[in-house]
Order: sequence, then C-alpha cells, then structure tokens
Amino acid sequence: MGVTNFLPKILDPIPGGKYAVNMVDYVVNWARANSLWPLTYGTSCCAIEMMSSSMARYDIARFGSEVFRASPRQADLFILAGTITERMAPAVQMLWEQIPGPKYVIGMGACTISGGPFYYNNYSVVRGAAEILPVDVFIPGCPPRPEALFHGLLTLRDKILHETSRDPWHEGEITAPETKDRWGEASQAWATLEKIKDEEMAEARAKFKEENPEYKSSYKPARVTKEEFPEVPHNPGKIVGLPQAELFNIVQEKFPSVTVYGLENSSQENLEALPADMPLDLQVSKKDYLPLIQFLKEDPRTLLNFLIDVTAVDWVDHFDVVAQLMSLEKGHKVFFRLSLTKDDSIAEEKKATSILASAPSLCALYAGAEWKEREVYDMFGIHFEKHPDLRRIFLDKDFVGYPLRKDFTHPHIIRRG
Ligand code: SF4
Repeated sequence: MGVTNFLPKILDPIPGGKYAVNMVDYVVNWARANSLWPLTYGTSCCAIEMMSSSMARYDIARFGSEVFRASPRQADLFILAGTITERMAPAVQMLWEQIPGPKYVIGMGACTISGGPFYYNNYSVVRGAAEILPVDVFIPGCPPRPEALFHGLLTLRDKILHETSRDPWHEGEITAPETKDRWGEASQAWATLEKIKDEEMAEARAKFKEENPEYKSSYKPARVTKEEFPEVPHNPGKIVGLPQAELFNIVQEKFPSVTVYGLENSSQENLEALPADMPLDLQVSKKDYLPLIQFLKEDPRTLLNFLIDVTAVDWVDHFDVVAQLMSLEKGHKVFFRLSLTKDDSIAEEKKATSILASAPSLCALYAGAEWKEREVYDMFGIHFEKHPDLRRIFLDKDFVGYPLRKDFTHPHIIRRG
C-alpha cells in the first residue's frame, strides 16, 4: 500500500485530476516493470536455464533484471524454477512472505506448473506452485529455454504496465499444499492396470491357442547352477603398492588374531595366491579395529592415510561394518571388516526401529569418517562410539526405521507384491 494508492481518491474528483493519476500510474508502473529483481532460488533442472539467462549470451540485464538477489527482502520477483516438494513448500511460502510488495511470481517449467512427471506415483511433490502461492505468469516447457523465460518476463512486464492505483496490486493468499494419500491412490491405479494387463494377456493367449492349435512352445525355463557357469579368467588390474601377502605379514607382526576375510587358513601359500591387484580384505575384532587401523595409518611401510569409505552389510543375524582405506603415497588398499552381533536383549517387535549394534568411530583418525559413519547410522541403525555428531544425515530426524536393514518394512516406502 503506497501513497499513490490514495491519489485517485483525492485527484479523480478534481477536473483534470484523472490525467494526473494516469501519469503517476504510468511512471510508477514503468519503474516497477523495468527493474524486476529476481530472488536467487531454483529447485531443480529448470534453474539451470534460469541461471543461463543471466549469462552474457542471453543477458537478462537487458530487461532490468540483472541483479539476482540473495535475500528476499531485496527482491520483488520470485521465479520458481523446478519441482516443489511438500517439505519445501513452507520454505517457499516463507520466502514469498518475506518479499516486500508489490511482488510477482513466475512459475517456470512443467514441474512448477503441475508437479510434472514427479507428481505421479510420488507422495511428496506439490501439484504446481499455484497450490501454495499466487502465481502471475506460467512458462511451459521442460525446461523452458531462456528465451521463454524472457517471454514470461515481458508478459509480466505487460501485466505490471496495466496496473493502476485505482485497482492497486494486492497480495493474494498463500494456501497449504494439498495433502492426500497419493501413495494409496497410485497403488490402486497400479493394481487396476495389472488386472487389466492380466485379463488382456489371458484373452490374447486363449485366442492364440485357438488359432494355432498345433503350436508348441520351445521355451523351457532353465536354472543354471553355479557349477555350470563357465570359468571366467580374472582380468588383472594394475598392481600398485604392496601385495596382499606382504601387507598381511605386516599386520600379523602386531595383530596375530586378525585374519583374511574368506580365507580358511592364512598360510603363506594361500596369501600368495590372492590376486595382487585386489585390496586386502581383513576380518578384525572390535578390540583390534581402531589400534590396527591407527597402526597401518602411521607405519611408514603401509601409510593408510586416506579413508575411502565406511559402509555396512546386514547379514540378518549380524552386521559387518566395512572401512575401506588407501595409501595415497603407495597406492595399496586395505578393507577392514568388523562383524557385530545384533543386540538380542531388545524385544522382537522393537528391533526394526532400534539401534542394534555399536562400533568404534574412526573420526579421531580420519575427519572424513564423520559423515560416512552418520550415513551408516542413518541407514543401518549402527551406533558409533565417540562420534562427535551422530545423527541422521539423509533422512528426517523423526524417520522411523533404518532403510538398508533387512528388517525394514515401511508400508509407504516399499511397494509390496
Ligand atoms: S520442468 Fe523439466 S527441466 Fe524443469 S524441473 Fe521439471 S523436469 Fe526439470
């Protein structure tokens, strides 16, 4: 609500006053329409085209919009470029609320207009920006090119140039995104389609049999046994660093109880038969896990100074935490496999949502372990002792369960049957 909005009430009744109001409208609209400052905000691929529109080839500055602002308080145009999820919707609305009026919204691309292909079979996508905000101009396309964005900008400019203080810009309303059980709807749709498909197939088969009574299928389903598979020769990779046997001998000097994973007996003969281009895969106890890794990190012969990954495997009755390390100087890699029994003291019905095992954290040795161990915690529900910041990294903090566990059965996330 600006001062100009009062002018018609004062000037219109005066002879010649209407001209003055028209003139003020013209000047104000001209200024607004030619200096639209967009907020820097893109949600997915459409944003790439939006960004390229500000580069030298397209040069959005020609339209007075050269300054993409990092703060909503300095912007008056909200270009929504990409898919909007239901979790993101409140943030989008908050940003819109923080833009001072008069403000305008451009919905760029199919996803912003209607949720695009992501709306279907998906529980999390908003069916178009207009469900949550008042949108002034929609630009179709997937993605729309910068030329299309400029067309949208010019359309908006046209709209602004026709505004008048007699019917001033008004804010419009934000609305909550539609929330309904789309997953349930999708499952029903699939079930119907499957049924139609089965019925059509049965009909087609019956018709074919009728028309070709002599036909006999030569197809015989066969299951190939492991023994029947041909021997595939190992294609050796480049050998870097110390061979597995030598690395293992160094380990054995200080940690005699450590074994090679998958090897019944760590005799020199067996060790030398291990492919020299593969990482050494060690089975370690919880007691040896940290001291062994620290030893191999510091020993000048091994120098395992780079943490490639920390991951885990759920073997149903136990977990394996697997730390993968490498020496950047020497090139060899060593995997450390720590088997953890699952906590049996937890009631059966609570197991799927409980932390079931605990491993020592590598954070004190490798700063990079922090996020990798958080991922294992997030996906498997394995606790890491002395981790400085152990919390979920990908999933919501109130997410129930651990998706990479064999016992994970979230009804809305896993489609069954
Ligand atoms: S409309 Fe196409 S390009 Fe734009 S966000 Fe959706 S999928 Fe990506």
